[in-house]
Amino acid sequence: TAFPDERTAIVTGAASERGIGRGIALRLALEGWAVAVVDLDKEASKAVADDISRSTGAVAAGFGADISNADSVDAALADIQATLPQVVGLVNNAGVSSPVPFLEVSREEWNRVVDINLTGTFHVTQGAARIMAANSVGRIVNISSASAQRGGGVYGRAAYSASKAALLGLARTLARELGPHGITANSVSPGSIDTDIMGGRLSDERKTQLLQELPVGRVGTVDDVAAVVAFLLREEAGYLTGVTYDVNGGSHIA
Ligand code: NAD
Repeated sequence: TAFPDERTAIVTGAASERGIGRGIALRLALEGWAVAVVDLDKEASKAVADDISRSTGAVAAGFGADISNADSVDAALADIQATLPQVVGLVNNAGVSSPVPFLEVSREEWNRVVDINLTGTFHVTQGAARIMAANSVGRIVNISSASAQRGGGVYGRAAYSASKAALLGLARTLARELGPHGITANSVSPGSIDTDIMGGRLSDERKTQLLQELPVGRVGTVDDVAAVVAFLLREEAGYLTGVTYDVNGGSHIA
């Protein structure tokens, strides 16, 4: 089915000031999408949506949801459907890092990270995919991480890496099962992107060391990630599915 003229992309975790999700939401607004900004804090989501619609003229609205809570997600999806055009795009960007080494990770920490990064993504995706399948058109992108492929490293250890690796398998399953419904599903796997996810915990020394090993020789930006995500959400990207796109400046060959 062809894309409708007016269509909505949901971006989770998009309220973070310098975050990847916000960059993606802005980019999608510039490409003609109506944007649903979803994040924990409803007011913060609304403020970001207002900003995006002021700067781009696009339709944007903010919603509060804790993706680890199924009821909270269902309520937000109902709100989105009542407020915005047909949901065609979903970017599963919300996530938390976890720097705890495997031998020290508590069950609480493990469950916290898996509940948000994996189960939260399941909640949002099942709700959104049911809408997409009913309309026979959709685009889903999971934001994974180079940590998933390399076994942690810069931003996260076991719980983070495992939950982000699970998103790669989930996207491939979605590609397989939802393809017949006109829905594609892909993953984007960023390397080190300059955001606040680690709360400034990376030392200058470690940053310099990381850059020395990197073919592109600079830290990634939210725009580097947003460009690829926006492409995957386009109508013309309909023959790409079940793929993982590395956006890492070449760290996978370093
Ligand atoms: P960020 O911390 O700036 O943004 C993450 C956002 O997710 C925040 O706004 C946060 O409020 C939201 N969030 C957290 N838990 C939530 C929940 N339960 N429900 C709803 N929203 C929730 O981080 P970022 O660097 O912009 O990361 C965005 C995504 O990219 C994450 O999934 C992260 O794992 C991934 N990633 C980041 C990097 C990097 O280098 N920054 C690298 C690889 C992957």
